[in-house]
Amino acid sequence: MAENCLFCKIASKRIPADVIFEDDKVVAFKDIEPQAPVHILVIPKVHIPTINGLSDASLAGHLVLTATSLASQLGISESGYRLVMNCNEDGGQTVFHIHLHILGGHQLTSMV
Ligand code: 5GP
Ligand code: ZN
Repeated sequence: MAENCLFCKIASKRIPADVIFEDDKVVAFKDIEPQAPVHILVIPKVHIPTINGLSDASLAGHLVLTATSLASQLGISESGYRLVMNCNEDGGQTVFHIHLHILGGHQLTSMV
């Protein structure tokens, strides 16, 4: 838990969010400013500022498998979706606690 980290506060319930899934390692919640009909963020409970600091392969896998499982539950597995993790300034990262975006529910536009 990092002081002044928004997503640590969401993970520890100090700030409310629309949580759709939680286990001992990760929390998934709706993005406050959705960019698609489905826009979910999957975060680890542990504070890791950027994907550059993600060294736990098990946790990395758990984030991805949580996202694919949620995509299935949300009914977008077959229509399709995008998983995105932005990194640092050029990647457009604005919250420095890693988060995997699940985006879907309509035809997504170009990546860049
Ligand atoms: P980034 O740009 O770092 O990849 O993505 C940060 C995401 O967090 C954005 O899509 C933004 O809308 C979302 N976000 C920022 N603050 C909050 C918040 O307080 N609650 C929720 N649920 N999402 C947030
Ligand atoms: Zn954090």
